[in-house]
Amino acid sequence: MRALVIEDNEHNVYLVRLLLESRGHEVREARDGPAGIAAARAEPPDVILLDIQLPGMDGYGVARGLRDIASLAAVPIVAVTSYAMDGDRTRAFAAGCDAYLEKPIDPDSFAQRIEEIAAAGLRRPEGSQ
Ligand code: MN
Repeated sequence: MRALVIEDNEHNVYLVRLLLESRGHEVREARDGPAGIAAARAEPPDVILLDIQLPGMDGYGVARGLRDIASLAAVPIVAVTSYAMDGDRTRAFAAGCDAYLEKPIDPDSFAQRIEEIAAAGLRRPEGSQ
């Protein structure tokens, strides 16, 4: 599986990379929204892990930008966020995210959860997004 992590916090990037690479997955990273959108467009990954609280363009804007790209239509976007405000989850799904995981990342379950989401995303019929 090839994952793209769009996240500005280096500790979170480190942890995600460690957890996914230890299970044989490939991880690319982008530290802000525009860089993440460009990376996803250049080479569509199997799953996108998206921080919501990013400098500049926030994760909701990034999700909408990603959903405007036809070649990414079948790529699941997972919001990974410590936001605890009401309506977060709803906003993430409305912006085009397919799943929502709360930080702190649980090292025991994170990688498997992402694998499940990526596998389900690849089975999604075209146009159902
Ligand atoms: Mn952040």
